[in-house]
This record gives sequence, C-alpha cells and structure tokens, in this order.
Amino acid sequence: MQDSYVHKGKRKILVEYLREKIGISDDNVLKAINEVPRHLFLESIFEDFAYEDRAFPILAKQTISHPSTVAEQTELLEIQQKDKVLEIGTGSGYQTAVLVAMNAWVYTIERQKDLHDFSQKKLRELHLRPKFQSFGDGFAGLPTFAPFDKILVTCGAETLPTELLHQLKVGGMMVIPLGKTEEQVLTRFTKKSEKEFEKEEFGAYKFVPMLNNTNH
Ligand code: SAH
Repeated sequence: MQDSYVHKGKRKILVEYLREKIGISDDNVLKAINEVPRHLFLESIFEDFAYEDRAFPILAKQTISHPSTVAEQTELLEIQQKDKVLEIGTGSGYQTAVLVAMNAWVYTIERQKDLHDFSQKKLRELHLRPKFQSFGDGFAGLPTFAPFDKILVTCGAETLPTELLHQLKVGGMMVIPLGKTEEQVLTRFTKKSEKEFEKEEFGAYKFVPMLNNTNH
C-alpha cells in the first residue's frame, strides 16, 4: 500500500470533520493527523474506510481507536514539542505516530508481542520512530525513563494505575479511560504537587481493557 493523493485528500476531509464536528482546535493535533497515513496501520481490506471516524480490528483481537478519540486524547494532553510522553498500549502504532509527528519524545509500551513487533516495523518504515518501544506491562510504567511530562493510556483501566502517577512530573498530565469493561470515563489528572492531583472528566467511551502482565 502506498500513500496516494486519494488518501491525502481523504485525510484533509477527516481533519475538517474533526475540527468542525468534533471540536478539535489544537492545530498541532490536526496537522499531525493530516500527516500520518492511518491506512498503513490497518489491514488492506479496511483501506477504503481508513479515514472514516471508525475503530477497526488489529492483531491480537485489539482495536485501533477512532480518529476522533485519538484526536481528543491527544488534545487533552496539550502536547508541546519535546514533551516526554509515555504511552500505554502501542497497539497498531497509529497514536504513537501522531505523537511523534508532533515532535514529542515518545516512550511506548505494549503487552501483546504481535502488536509490539508490528508497530515497531511500521513506525520504522514510516520514519516516525518513538524514542523507546517496550514489550511489557504498562501498569509498571517505565521507571528507568521517568519522570514524564505526559502519560497517555489507550486502554480502559478498571482501577487507577497509581505507579504511573508517580512517574509524572509535577505540572504533568495523565489522560486515561477509567471504569468497568462496558464503559469508561475519559479522565485527566494534572499533578499539582508530589501528592496533589486535579481530576477532570470528559465523557464516556469504550476502550479495550488494560490487562496485567504480558501476552506472548
Ligand atoms: N493506540 C492504539 C490503540 C490500541 S488498543 C492504536 O492506535 O492502535 C489498546 C492497546 O493497549 C492494545 O493493543 C492492548 O494490547 C494494549 N494493552 C492493554 N493492557 C496493556 C498493558 N497492561 N500494558 C501495555 N499495553 C496494554
């Protein structure tokens, strides 16, 4: 699969939809979505639908998030150039690519070996490489590289992974879908001091679950 003018045209329409209908206003988020070829992260049978606001199955029974969810989560993080960002749930690598395209320094963890391998290859091919890609359990974070400016969790957590909050800088933010398997609330924590957090909620979503340990 190539990135043709047809794909580029569809991406422009998607970006306008995200701006007008979803209300995304961070130009850097929209610019990155305009740049990253989402269809290349999907199986070829979905190529024609890659720029619709839809989720699709990826390897290991996981899903690539809706473009609107990627845009909303990224906007909530208020990404600045060179922010150190920890992503939990690399999946296809699409969200990782959007963060890299925004010139963030991305550290990402995936517990499914197939997806870890797929996303690593894809991000290399597209020259959208994160700083570090880990096959492991996101609940533990990446203490070696902590602290982070931002943390993005792309799977739904039933309980708050407190270790991740420890790995956040004071002034940093974590965006995480929190709640039971049927539905989660998109939640943003801002670290005000070592012990104080501001908590904000941004509506209901359905993510694949955040699971313990790794899966070969
Ligand atoms: N951002 C991804 C979304 C993938 S879905 C994309 O754009 O494609 C969420 C991912 O989180 C899945 O791949 C799932 O395997 C992964 N995941 C679930 N629990 C995890 C954990 N404890 N640690 C790391 N990854 C996890």
